[in-house]
Amino acid sequence: METLEHPVTDALLQVDGQRLWDSLMEMARIGATPKGGVCRLALSDEDRAGRDLFVRWAREAGCSLSVDRIGNVFARRAGRDDSLPAVLVGSHADSQPTGGRFDGIYGVLAGLEVLRSLNDHGIVTEHPVEAAIWTNEEGSRFAPAMVASGVFAGVFELEYGLSRKDTSGKTLGEELARIGYAGTTPVGGRPLAACFEVHIEQGPILENEGRTIGVVTGAQGQRWYELTLTGQESHAGPTPMTLRRDALLGAARVVQLVNRIGLQFAPLACATVGMLNVYPNSRNVIPGSVFLTVDFRHPDDAVLARMDEELRAGLERIVAEGGLESALEQIFYYAPVAFAAPCIAAVRDATQALGYSHRDIIAGAGHDSCYLAGIAPTAMIFVPCIGGISHNEIEDARPEWITAGANVLFNSVLSMAGRA
Ligand SMILES: [Zn+2]
Repeated sequence: METLEHPVTDALLQVDGQRLWDSLMEMARIGATPKGGVCRLALSDEDRAGRDLFVRWAREAGCSLSVDRIGNVFARRAGRDDSLPAVLVGSHADSQPTGGRFDGIYGVLAGLEVLRSLNDHGIVTEHPVEAAIWTNEEGSRFAPAMVASGVFAGVFELEYGLSRKDTSGKTLGEELARIGYAGTTPVGGRPLAACFEVHIEQGPILENEGRTIGVVTGAQGQRWYELTLTGQESHAGPTPMTLRRDALLGAARVVQLVNRIGLQFAPLACATVGMLNVYPNSRNVIPGSVFLTVDFRHPDDAVLARMDEELRAGLERIVAEGGLESALEQIFYYAPVAFAAPCIAAVRDATQALGYSHRDIIAGAGHDSCYLAGIAPTAMIFVPCIGGISHNEIEDARPEWITAGANVLFNSVLSMAGRA
């Protein structure tokens, strides 16, 4: 079990870790799944119930509430000079269908805990402080992910966000209205002094190294591709091995190629084939075509470009040798994100002052903060999760990690919001 190497100094203010844990566990009852996780898909009845609980708690903490036109919820605690831009903390309250109790909602309730703790300590901040819920971060029900923070940050148009459809054809806008969270305030367009988000790491690095806090300095860039390989269907019996144009064999070689590219640019690169559709997918037919996806990630844009070159060169060889045709399309590009130096410094200083073991880390997944970083000074804080497992009902974290991350968040917010 991770322990603190240094005693926490009395001078530093701390949150009420037990209250935060209790709130997380109470929230986890909404949409609870049999294996101990949660299912709160964006804008479902469960998402509404989770939002309602947050709103009730925020009101009880004396905050004013607002909801914008894409359903982002803001709980605001006034600053001494309330005309100053807010320091904003937040994350998402939606989950994967078989999600865990911490992904996203930890950042939301840690934000609430910051507001509650400011009350406890009787602190007046110079800037207002807000805790936010960002709508539909997961992208599980409505694609793309992080659509509402994207609209807030001006990456997407509001109409685009509202018109996203789930598999049954319901739009995000209709579902917002149905659950009573189609707000009236404009989306974004206001300055923010700083943004912070605390999140479970969703990977194994912190736990493996026995560190409590990840000071997140940025996020990986991503390139997503769709590839169709076309050969020729023919009978598995009468067609000699030398005369085949087997699309699945080509796809298998592409899977190997993608893995080799990931290893070539290790340790920071990730390269994954996650989806493979074989046509006609019949046991005695040589596959005539295969659709597959490729997901490349790296924090350096130049390396991502080299990975792209390696993919195209390798694919050309595979296609030529296999007598295949290929159609490769990059369907998604996401530039690497560098978080703001003053916010990173605030996180690192708070972590060191609190005496937590830490390391700098790059976010491997997308987060709302990645879009917010485009419009405001932003940084993230990671805490470990057990086994590095997330997007899984067994996702878990130790209470002391949860408390530590919230303490770092609290002191980072204080340093940027200023004590009046
Ligand atoms: Zn998340």
